Amino acid sequence: MNEKPTRHILSLSGGKDSTALAVYMRDKVPEMEYVFCDTGEELPETYEYLDKVEAYLGREIRRLKNNREGFADLLAARKGFLPSPAARWCTQYLKIVPFEQYVGDDPAISYIAIRADEAHRKGYLSTKANIRARYPFIEDGITKSDVTRLLYDSGLGMPSYYEWRSRSGCYFCFFQQRNEWVGLLERHPDLFWKAAAYEKFDSTTGQRYTWVPRESLEELAKPERVRQIQADLDKREATRQGAKVRNTLLDLFTEDVSDSEEGCLICHL
Ligand code: SF4
Repeated sequence: MNEKPTRHILSLSGGKDSTALAVYMRDKVPEMEYVFCDTGEELPETYEYLDKVEAYLGREIRRLKNNREGFADLLAARKGFLPSPAARWCTQYLKIVPFEQYVGDDPAISYIAIRADEAHRKGYLSTKANIRARYPFIEDGITKSDVTRLLYDSGLGMPSYYEWRSRSGCYFCFFQQRNEWVGLLERHPDLFWKAAAYEKFDSTTGQRYTWVPRESLEELAKPERVRQIQADLDKREATRQGAKVRNTLLDLFTEDVSDSEEGCLICHL
């Protein structure tokens, strides 16, 4: 009996690391399948960037979706209980399920973009025995500055949302910092208010379902609050700049991209 050949799959998040991995692997594994798990709640910049990446790769990036339930259906089924870092059902149903359905029972290697300088982090590990993980950046010692170089050398550069936001993912991602919510309000007011419409106040229990702890988006959008958030950010930036020693030109390109450990290693690589 013939065994099925192993498939090679690279899941792009629309972020810098997975894109750099696609650039890095393009000629190494010509049979690579490129996919993007589309939550249906992505930023327009993400789709634009994926189109550029697709043109660079010369290969289709398959857009995978949960065809049974979108975010609004999932939220309704949870009675308005928004996802959060502690209850990340969005990742499970909108990213992992479509990916695992796409792979099916075929033997597959999933290429994960965790870098050598963050090797202690854990990426998506499938519970399905037929999907094995490979970490080419860790294997080859590729670090953050290499990723930046790969992206600029390829002509792709960084996704444009990095101008105001530190991670890929849904426009309403709860991993955003407050100043990034302000960025969303300024750049995409329609999406900001769409996110706000998902928040809810349960008058029976007194429970508030908000994206940001202890604050609704309506409260956050008030002009005096926006000014305060921006002032807090400026203060943090000034402290950071004072402490920073710039060694190379590359630092200038990478300095605005936060790499804190917080975040989702499926959505934000
Ligand atoms: S980007 Fe954020 S909100 Fe979207 S699926 Fe991932 S963790 Fe959930």
